[in-house]
Amino acid sequence: MGSVKDYFSSLGSGLASLVKGMQITGKEFITPKITEKYPEDRETVKVPERFRAVLTLKYDEEGRHKCIACGICQRNCPNDTITITSKMVDMPDGKKKRKLDKYVYDLGSCTFCQLCVTTCPQDALEFSNDFEQAVFTREKLVKQLNYLPEKEEPAPSPEELAKAAAEREAKIAAAKAAAEASATDVNTENKEN
Ligand code: SF4
Ligand code: SF4
Repeated sequence: MGSVKDYFSSLGSGLASLVKGMQITGKEFITPKITEKYPEDRETVKVPERFRAVLTLKYDEEGRHKCIACGICQRNCPNDTITITSKMVDMPDGKKKRKLDKYVYDLGSCTFCQLCVTTCPQDALEFSNDFEQAVFTREKLVKQLNYLPEKEEPAPSPEELAKAAAEREAKIAAAKAAAEASATDVNTENKEN
């Protein structure tokens, strides 16, 4: 008799379990999906703006970046992920200026800590959310970020040219004065001896 009672008892708990399971299945069936059918939905997939996929230089609408090759991001990177080379170029006003030659970034060793972005004094860097970065070899993860051809510097204004000329004149005058003062000192010493 006991076994018949146990039979119906376990049948009842089995049915209750089945109903509960079907309830959960039914609920999930009508809940909006949060997973993406990638790559089928590549055209419509939404990646959050703040997702850090790859480091990039910010370019303005004229194709200029703001990097001055100061090297602060390179020094702050804990992983040696950034290698910057610079060059000295002659400016239209006759001065020399340090400019970025190559900004090389190794995505394969980046930890996305964003120290480079937050410490850049020029606000020249940002992370793109372009997450499709898969490649077949590690070498292809090394990217040159200043990939656009370098734009010419805007021509200096007449005021800037006049200021640069005045600075040059002042430097020449100071150098002459220092040389004359030094020659006078030598003459005085010779006479005393
Ligand atoms: S990206 Fe910023 S911190 Fe790095 S070298 Fe350029 S200006 Fe300096
Ligand atoms: S995010 Fe961090 S690890 Fe990556 S390049 Fe910038 S400082 Fe280096």
